[in-house]
Amino acid sequence: MFSLDDYPLAWAANSLEPYISRHTVNFHYAGHLATYIKNLNALISGTKYEQMSLPNIILGSRKNPAEQKIFNNAAQIWNHNFFFAGLTKPSEPSKIPDKILNDFGTLEKFQDTFKSAALSVFGSGWVWLIYDEKLKIITSANADTPVGTKQIPLRVLDVWEHAYYLDYQNRRAYFVQAF
Ligand code: MN
Repeated sequence: MFSLDDYPLAWAANSLEPYISRHTVNFHYAGHLATYIKNLNALISGTKYEQMSLPNIILGSRKNPAEQKIFNNAAQIWNHNFFFAGLTKPSEPSKIPDKILNDFGTLEKFQDTFKSAALSVFGSGWVWLIYDEKLKIITSANADTPVGTKQIPLRVLDVWEHAYYLDYQNRRAYFVQAF
């Protein structure tokens, strides 16, 4: 059984304001993430997945169309935990990692590439900074996740509408910029 308590937020719900409101954080965390956890628990009860770790559930169900619901809910739990863990309180900019400059040229190029990718996602999905021989920005649709592939996720942005609609309505670009 999975529990929301297994995935605590490292910061208070209001600490990302004004970029992401406490209202959005509360609905996103205690609403959406909690629902994925509740759904997964119900779906895996009495199955071979009941005692498995979240990554193993993702790997096991990924390629089985009959287990699409299990995959979707498990991957969404993993993706959301990773998204929340990658967010921090706004602070003074720290030194730009050399790897960003090496692989993208400039910070601006990196940001532009990320923004373009985020705006290119049609419908619901995710934008990932991953390491795969070098840093790359990729997108995934719906619940899809690089977990279990050779792509190592470093940061992710949720671009499902529920991630930004309360704060930015249809203006996804504003949300991406804030991130
Ligand atoms: Mn979300």
